Amino acid sequence: MIDARARVLADLTARHQATAPAVSALEDACVARQWWAQQWPEGEVYVAGLVAQDVQDALFEQVGRWPMCLSCSEGAVHSLYIQPDLGGPDPVWVCEETGEVAAALGFLGRA
Ligand SMILES: [Zn+2]
Repeated sequence: MIDARARVLADLTARHQATAPAVSALEDACVARQWWAQQWPEGEVYVAGLVAQDVQDALFEQVGRWPMCLSCSEGAVHSLYIQPDLGGPDPVWVCEETGEVAAALGFLGRA
């Protein structure tokens, strides 16, 4: 759980989105998914990706899209999304246009 929180926070920070509403959304997502993982321990591998998706959804409603794809230079601006869609195992950010991997979750700042 600490790992999930740290990885999503790292990616928020990498894109200058570690704002109060975003961190609050992250805390809420961690609490909800922690409860969920306690009911279903095998779900642990999905938690980090699911937390990232929860924060992405919350930010979309409040401030806009995160994280944006920075690798494509053509076409309209677009987002990255978590692959696998289930949240894990080994979640990565993928460009929604090309399907190419941008970075592992938690490593957007090094992409
Ligand atoms: Zn792209």
